[in-house]
Amino acid sequence: MSDAPVDYRPMWTDLGLDLEAHDLLLTAIPQLYADAYLSQQDRPEGMAYFDFVMSEIHGLRIKELVDHKAAGGTVIGTFCVYVPEEIIRALGGVSVGLCAGAEWAYDQVEQLLPRNTCALIKSAMGFKLGKVCPYVESADLVIGETTCDGKKKAWELLGEYAPVYVMELPQMKRPQDLAFWREELDRLVEKLEEVTGNTLTFEALQKATKEVNDKRRALQRLNAARAASPAPISGKDALLAVQVAFYDDVPRFTEMVNKIADELEQRVASGKGVATADAPRVLITGTPMSVPNWKVHDIVEKAGGVVVAEEMCTGSRYYDKLVSEDATTLEGAMDALAVKYLDVNCACFTPNQGRIDDVLRMAKEYKADGVLHYALQFCATYQIEATTVERSAQEAGLPVLRVDTDYSMEDVGQLSTRVEAFLEMLKA
Ligand code: SF4
Ligand code: SF4
Repeated sequence: MSDAPVDYRPMWTDLGLDLEAHDLLLTAIPQLYADAYLSQQDRPEGMAYFDFVMSEIHGLRIKELVDHKAAGGTVIGTFCVYVPEEIIRALGGVSVGLCAGAEWAYDQVEQLLPRNTCALIKSAMGFKLGKVCPYVESADLVIGETTCDGKKKAWELLGEYAPVYVMELPQMKRPQDLAFWREELDRLVEKLEEVTGNTLTFEALQKATKEVNDKRRALQRLNAARAASPAPISGKDALLAVQVAFYDDVPRFTEMVNKIADELEQRVASGKGVATADAPRVLITGTPMSVPNWKVHDIVEKAGGVVVAEEMCTGSRYYDKLVSEDATTLEGAMDALAVKYLDVNCACFTPNQGRIDDVLRMAKEYKADGVLHYALQFCATYQIEATTVERSAQEAGLPVLRVDTDYSMEDVGQLSTRVEAFLEMLKA
């Protein structure tokens, strides 16, 4: 067998990527990855899998998606943890997360969206307009949702460039909201049946539910080990595992994460860690961080702290709750999905006390010394909710650092200074 690198350029050309711009992106990501990840000491050996995944982020996984489509399958893009991947999987689709974590083609984006739009929306739009994302180009359907105002209006514009379907999400969690959401899931099934050409069955949904639950259970195991002191894995590595969970092959990902969890449990038993036992332990809560957004974790850990948990959609909100596997009918299985998915504590809900409760519970479980509230600039929901989170954490005796930022590197120096001062305070 030849070890020569595979030439993916014909595949990228077929997908319609702008090869010149794409080359630039593929030069930038490995540099960022090497600086944030490969410079770490004593990483778990199992993280070699994620090094490989990142080295093939637009290669092997895209080839798998292209092959899946050639065999009659579909690829469905999503932007939010409220979209049930179990339904997509049960209908023979592959679910891929499309949120992007880097500034791209902002000159084109700002012709459509106001400058004061959050980086997550601008970036997702930029990756599409700039033709540099093979995931969105592979998607047969892109599912948006009415979580925040920015997103729900952006989908109207994105719909001019890609096939978009929008799910309506309630903004409260009363019984009538659950009933509405349950019906909304039926409407999603109808749309996905049309796109995939398949019919949802109870057996397929139960199988997909079990597989996705297994993925979440593996992430729960990996993250549970972070409660130990010293922490057996860096926050950056744990974040990467959740980021990759949104687009990797489900059974393979589950197997690899369980292997890392085995290794972490051995590390905990032998007292081995990636940071010293007296390193300040930080819980991060807020808006999601998509690849390659590792900025804040990197700053905290390079300043001598260790991130021990993430209360965010690229963190506990993705893996901490499972879908009940007790249903005996398709209706019952759909009811179980509706209950689980409405129980995500996004700041787009009011009230959102569940998020506060989670932050306080997790700070205790993971022995956090302090809380870093992370919000993207211009994200009104999280920036406003930061006040309640900060007040509640301080009342519980937890110091809080509020960070409002974007995907640029311009504020790294200033943020580092603030984080260093925060960590010093946690040590005192
Ligand atoms: S923060 Fe809210 S809108 Fe964003 S992915 Fe999470 S649930 Fe969806
Ligand atoms: S970060 Fe905030 S403004 Fe941006 S998409 Fe998410 S909820 Fe909306």
